[in-house]
Amino acid sequence: MKNGLLIFSAPSGSGKSTIVNWLMKEHPELKLAFSISCTSRAPRGTEQNGVEYFFLTPEEFKAKIEADEFLEYEEVYQDRFYGTLKSQVENQLEAGDSVVFDVDVKGGVNIKKFYGGRALSIFVQPPSVEELRRRLNGRGTDAPEVIEQRLAKANYELTFAPQFDHIVVNDKLEKAEQEVYKLVSDFLNQE
Ligand code: ADP
Ligand code: 5GP
Repeated sequence: MKNGLLIFSAPSGSGKSTIVNWLMKEHPELKLAFSISCTSRAPRGTEQNGVEYFFLTPEEFKAKIEADEFLEYEEVYQDRFYGTLKSQVENQLEAGDSVVFDVDVKGGVNIKKFYGGRALSIFVQPPSVEELRRRLNGRGTDAPEVIEQRLAKANYELTFAPQFDHIVVNDKLEKAEQEVYKLVSDFLNQE
């Protein structure tokens, strides 16, 4: 089995974290390592520094941009920056793991462009924007104005779907998880 880069992008609330967490927990044989991004947003719920993200101040984030430490970064929401450190990805690949990315649509397209055939990109599509609203409300981790900000961006993000290698519609969770597992294991097992 080779190691590669596995990119997951979707509008917020589509279920990509749920699917990625399931894949990593249920399939240790795939040797997956999560790419921990940096963000300038505050931790949410039970999130811990160095686990879900490296939480930086806007000034710390800017310093890393200036030092050219990011493979890619985006201002995904106004004043909220997210980025992937080059060093983080290189160390994980060197250790022999496949690296899993949970990044916004532009970041996903950019990482795929950079790594080409070494990367598999998957767009997790929600059944509808109304369902996204239900899921974001149900998750209960974001303030109403943050939810509105995320929903306002969803239609734009959906237009990026054709730029991904595969689109997985997350209507029934178990079906979507199995579909993702098959795509990933086929990719890592190909010559
Ligand atoms: P994302 O990482 O894309 O922002 P999450 O994985 O946090 O999304 O999922 C958003 C919410 O939707 C969570 O509360 C999750 O439990 C729920 N969810 C995920 N997939 C489904 C599904 N297929 N059907 C119903 N709810 C789902
Ligand atoms: P959240 O605030 O819900 O954790 O993430 C918001 C969005 O930022 C999600 O679409 C997530 O995939 C994206 N994101 C997280 N890390 C990165 C990153 O390193 N680069 C880019 N471009 N987007 C990221």
